[in-house]
Amino acid sequence: MIYNSPRGTEDYFGEEIKYRNFLIEVSKRLFDLFNYSEIITPHFEHTEVFSRGIGENSEIVNKEMYTFFDKKNRSLTLRPEGTASVVRAVIENKLYSENLPLKLFYIGNMFRYERPQKGRMREFCQIGVEAIGSNSPSIDTEVIWLLYDLFEKLGFKNLVLYVNSIGCSRCRNDYINMLEEQLLPVKGDLCEDCISRLGKNTLRIFDCKVKTCREVLKNVAKISDNLCESCQKHFIEIKSLLDTIGIKYVHNKNLVRGFDYYTRTIFEIISSDIDSAQNALGGGGRYDNLIKEFGGPEISSIGFAIGLERTILLMKELGIRIPASCKPENKTYIINMDTAYDKYIFEILKFLRDSGIYCDINFNIRNVGKEIKFAQNNDYKNVIIIGEDEYEKKNIIIKKLLSYSQEEFSWISDKEKILNFLKKME
Ligand SMILES: [Zn+2]
Ligand SMILES: [Zn+2]
Repeated sequence: MIYNSPRGTEDYFGEEIKYRNFLIEVSKRLFDLFNYSEIITPHFEHTEVFSRGIGENSEIVNKEMYTFFDKKNRSLTLRPEGTASVVRAVIENKLYSENLPLKLFYIGNMFRYERPQKGRMREFCQIGVEAIGSNSPSIDTEVIWLLYDLFEKLGFKNLVLYVNSIGCSRCRNDYINMLEEQLLPVKGDLCEDCISRLGKNTLRIFDCKVKTCREVLKNVAKISDNLCESCQKHFIEIKSLLDTIGIKYVHNKNLVRGFDYYTRTIFEIISSDIDSAQNALGGGGRYDNLIKEFGGPEISSIGFAIGLERTILLMKELGIRIPASCKPENKTYIINMDTAYDKYIFEILKFLRDSGIYCDINFNIRNVGKEIKFAQNNDYKNVIIIGEDEYEKKNIIIKKLLSYSQEEFSWISDKEKILNFLKKME
């Protein structure tokens, strides 16, 4: 019986791991530079954390959550995104009493029951940032800047930053009423999904990719033209700070983003190198009411998230190579020709590893030619072959795989010379 991993999940190894580690390393280095610190929350939470946090009307809560009852009949859910958990953790641990804003990042797996497609898995890894406890447009700008820099550092080119403001709860509610009034008479031109969004999740109609819906949206009022004075000022300040740090942006009046909790600033980064409707690399937004709704103080926040697997897929599609991992010049392979020499081999291995030489041995005995080929294909620079002669005489022969030069040493008296020869580049 051979088992397959469940649909929408994947095993990662080899080259894929190198990409994942590269992405995580680049992110962590950048978060450190911007003074964001890591937070780790559980992989599952009480279901209400998500149903209240993300919104009962959202697609995620309605269709995509992995919800189960534990043995005490409590409803638990595997986290489908990061923000709600982070907010729950900040309130529970009263982290907001510290110096604000709290600048946090998380890296971890999320779970959504979606139709799997390229770069979109049911278990996927998200890297996200939350800056909690500031209303200042400067923190919006910093978070946007961080996301922009991240894609730049990963090697993406031709980045375009979309920004928009979807207002506070006051000006947005007025706007949504107006939008619904404008949409009702042309309801017939909308797709089925949008008709069901109308009145329930009206703003999400702007997310629709259907052509007829896009036509309808061209002629309706836009939220960013209907902001209250304070939201307007906030948005203008962000744009001016983005100018200061030289990040070019496009004010995309049609930009709205998936979560109910967003207020004011939302943003998305796309690469014009990606030739598809789904060219967003990542994005985020401000959430001013979520913490209060969770029983915390009235403090506002902003964050973003990117999907690890999708980012890697796009890097590969765009031909972005990760830098070759540093391969030590002294990487050494010891070829053991008989298990009878194991003790001798382990003496050598212990000494070399203690001396900082990257080395490995063959644990199964194979043909020498095959072992040398293996060493060549795996970036080894030196090969040490231990056969009967070497074992008897307590000698070792070191072959340089690049120049094919070789030298013989006494294991008993030449240890320093052995190290020097191994480290020699040739
Ligand atoms: Zn407002
Ligand atoms: Zn539609």
